[in-house]
Amino acid sequence: MPFLDVERLKKVKGERRRVVFTGSLPVLKLEDSEFCFVEPAQFELMLTNVGSSAVDVEGQVQVALKVPCSRCLQHFAYSLNVPFSETYYEKNQPAHSGKTEEWVAYSGDYIDITPEVLGTVLMNLPMRFICSEQCRGLCPICGVDLNTQQCNCIREDIDPRLAKLQELLKS
Ligand SMILES: [Zn+2]
Ligand SMILES: [Zn+2]
Repeated sequence: MPFLDVERLKKVKGERRRVVFTGSLPVLKLEDSEFCFVEPAQFELMLTNVGSSAVDVEGQVQVALKVPCSRCLQHFAYSLNVPFSETYYEKNQPAHSGKTEEWVAYSGDYIDITPEVLGTVLMNLPMRFICSEQCRGLCPICGVDLNTQQCNCIREDIDPRLAKLQELLKS
């Protein structure tokens, strides 16, 4: 789990520290699907004490998730680099004047950024995953993976826009 050690930083207003580390993330749940991370995430963050022990965390997180291709249904590792930006405030400190509703509470000397990292990854996920631009997908008739096998089905190669229209006409 990605924890930030702020024991020293939280004491001095204006103090900054750049941290680079790797950390494992738990399974990402999205409605009825689950995505596993295939390797520990890589963090590159700048921590800034913005006063009253509040810590501004800004940077990049690089993750790789195991996802199914929406054309051929094979799982593959999908890499994603997401920008990260959160401000954490110390629960037991007097309220910081700049505090907004988006700020996240922490207490003690460590900040667990896991929930915000998962939220950021979720927000940056595409609607669908394609294993490669060249992926040929499954045969719509017999279902074989056309990337690895050939079949003798006669497929009408129709323009996807026309396919949409056909579907509409059918219903
Ligand atoms: Zn594919
Ligand atoms: Zn076929």
